[in-house]
Order: sequence, then C-alpha cells, then structure tokens
Amino acid sequence: MALIVQKFGGTSVGSTEKIRAVVQRVLGYHKQGHKMVVVLSAMSGETDRLINLARDIQKIPDPREMDMLVSTGEQVTVALFAMAVNEAGFDAISLLGDQVGIRTSGLHTRARIRNIESKRIFTHLDEGKIVTIAGFQGVTESGDITTLGRGGSDTTAVALAAALKADACEIFTDVDGIYTTDPNICPKARKIDRISYDEMLELASLGAKVLDIRSVGLAKKYRVPVHVRSTFTENDGTWVVEEEKNMESMLVSGVTYSKNEARITLNKVPDQPGVAAQIFLPISDAGIIVDMIIQNTRAGSLTDMTFTVLRTDYDRAMDLLKGIAKEIQAESVTGDENIAKVSIVGVGMRNHSGIASTMFQILAKEGINIMMISTSEIKVSCIIEEKYTELAVRALHDAFALDKENIPVEEKI
Ligand code: ADP
Ligand code: ASP
Ligand code: MG
Repeated sequence: MALIVQKFGGTSVGSTEKIRAVVQRVLGYHKQGHKMVVVLSAMSGETDRLINLARDIQKIPDPREMDMLVSTGEQVTVALFAMAVNEAGFDAISLLGDQVGIRTSGLHTRARIRNIESKRIFTHLDEGKIVTIAGFQGVTESGDITTLGRGGSDTTAVALAAALKADACEIFTDVDGIYTTDPNICPKARKIDRISYDEMLELASLGAKVLDIRSVGLAKKYRVPVHVRSTFTENDGTWVVEEEKNMESMLVSGVTYSKNEARITLNKVPDQPGVAAQIFLPISDAGIIVDMIIQNTRAGSLTDMTFTVLRTDYDRAMDLLKGIAKEIQAESVTGDENIAKVSIVGVGMRNHSGIASTMFQILAKEGINIMMISTSEIKVSCIIEEKYTELAVRALHDAFALDKENIPVEEKI
C-alpha cells in the first residue's frame, strides 16, 4: 500500500467525460489499497479564458484580483472530480489551497510555496477518501489567495509529494513523456526514458513546458522521483531522477522554444555611467524578469539598449519604460512581441567548441535571421521571428541528430 500523488493537466480534465475517465484511472489505484492524492489543473483553455476576461476590463489588472480570478478554474475541476468519484460509489473530498494550508509568499501571480500543513490531508486519507486538491494556488499568511505562475499545478503536485513523503509522484499529461523536443511540433522527437533533474531544469527553463521549472527544482531539492506520463495510454513515461552513471550523455540533449518572449529597445540612450542601473532597477523592483540584454554603441555618446522580457510582462514593462525613457532622456521605446527563443541544451556542450556556430549555420541555411544570441556552458539560445519557430526547432533537431540514441560526440560535430 503506497501513498501516491497524481497530477492531471488541463487537457486531461478538459471535459466532464475526461474527468470521468481520470476518476476511473485513479479508482484503479484506490481499489488496490493505495492512498490517493489527486492534484488537478483547470480545464484546458480555462486559465487563458479567465486572463482574457480580466484584460477586457483592465489592461494591467491588480495582481491580487488576478489571483482571485484565475484560481477559480481549479476549483471547478476538483469539485467535479469529487462528484464523479462519489457517483462511482466511492468517497472523495475536494480541497482548495487554503483549505489544505498551502502557504505561499505574497508575490501574487507567481507566489512561492513556503510550507504545507499535511494534517487535514492525512485525516481524510485515513477516512478512506480520495483527496483531490486544486493545483496552482495557495494562500498567504494573511489569508489572501495566490497563484504560483502558469503551469504551477506541477509544482503543487511535487510540493505535496515532498510534504506528504509520498511513495510516488506522477504527472499525467497529453504526451507520453519527455522528448528531445516538443513532439507536437517535431514528429522526429524521441522519448527519453530517464532524465536527470539538472538536465530537466535546463530544458524547463528554456521553454519545455511539459514540466514547470519550479516543480523540477523542488523535486531535486527533496529527491522526489517524478514520473511524467500520458493520461490517455498505459505506457511508461519518463522518470526525472538524480543523475545516473549510465544516463545518455549527448552533446546536445534537447531543443526547446519559448514563444512567451518580447523584445524591447530603448533608442538613443545617453551612454554614461549609471544608465543601465537606472533602467533595470525599477524593472526588477516590479518583479519583471529580464533575460537577454544587448547594448549597441552608436556614433557619438548615444547607445541603444535592447533586451527581452516575458511576453506576459510586456505591457507592464512598456508602461514602466516609457517613464524611465523620459527620466534618462532616451529618444524612444520600441517593442516587438512577435519573437521566439529557440535553444539547444546539453551538459555535453561544456567541453566542446563549435556548437554555437553549427546552430547559427543551420538557422542561416533555413534563411532565419538571428536577432539576439545568448550562451552559457550548456546552452545556446537565439531570438528569431516567431513565425520561424517550428522550422528552426525541426532543423536543429535534424542537424544534431537527436532522433538517434547515444551517438558518440565525435561523430556529431
Ligand atoms: P498539462 O496541461 O498537462 O500541464 P502542458 O501543456 O503544460 O500540459 O505540457 C505538455 C506539453 O508540453 C505537450 O503537449 C508538448 O506540446 C509540450 N512540450 C514542450 N516540450 C516538450 C518536450 N521536450 N517533451 C514533451 N512535451 C513537450
Ligand atoms: N491552470 C494553470 C495554467 O493554465 C496551472 C496549470 O495548468 O498548471 O497555467
Ligand atoms: Mg503544464
């Protein structure tokens, strides 16, 4: 008899029919005597729908009110799930973040979990109930509802698995595991059987939304093995675990993309000490994350400052920058939301040169212009026009032969 945390994503609970199917699956484990904690997302498309409703009312809504709104999507699915369990003749109880005591920081729309009170969950499990918990949400010390950021239900599930010391944490989704790239845009993507926390952290940080990055960080910290698998098949999925000796060590292990990017340029900024701080301090104070930064010197004492932010922060960033531009006497602020970031990731890159230049050649061959570049020891990212994203991902996946397993590094360069 085990304690199992299972999380089902939006597409898995996208209709009452699908909820009934998920209930049957969970009941299969329950009937074997396992204690089941089930974390659910909102129905697919629901969180986007709620965000759009808010935007219809106000361009930059108050983050606290935003959390009041978007957290409702999960309330619907957990209640329906509990009803479907009861209808099937078993006992279940649905709980929201504050009822479980998922305490978070007060940073609305991207709060961090601080601790979870497990008592109530154990009480209901001991009563023989299936406990279903709304993902993505928590509550501050002062009782305000928070959300954990998009994709945050994964984080709820892993945090619960850690707090309850669960025997297993399974993330059920619409693909049957973690692939070398998004299988929905690259048919040649190859499923990975086991992947280390570190490598998955990289993939997630660069856009592989199959797992929310904070869930991977928590899994690593608390050594929770995570099984990512499909809601719609019985197949084994991918295990995210600590690094093992015989794990595939590829030069490039994955290709990722993120369309949640926007580019902002401050034109003709006076090139003098302190200007960068004047620009980026207020931005970071507003909780806006800046990714790549490029500074181009013009003739004379002026410079252009270009950087990227999350597209979801774009309106707020532009609003702030208009004020900053005036203060520092920059000529203008321009922005572009039609960009994407494509990246190649792999710990094997550490000791090899020429990977970045190969990437640039491949993109050039496809006629794709690179607007910005950033590199680290184990990744290379390029900003390109959004419309070329799929083409770029497929070309890179082909060029680095990611559809083939364990190709010796030397053969690949
Ligand atoms: P859920 O609603 O279940 O949380 P998500 O849409 O958040 O599901 O995540 C699953 C999606 O992640 C897949 O449908 C796929 O398009 C995308 N994805 C991106 N990169 C990868 C990858 N490397 N492996 C698997 N899926 C990926
Ligand atoms: N419903 C939330 C979202 O769409 C959280 C999640 O699905 O993980 O981002
Ligand atoms: Mg998700």
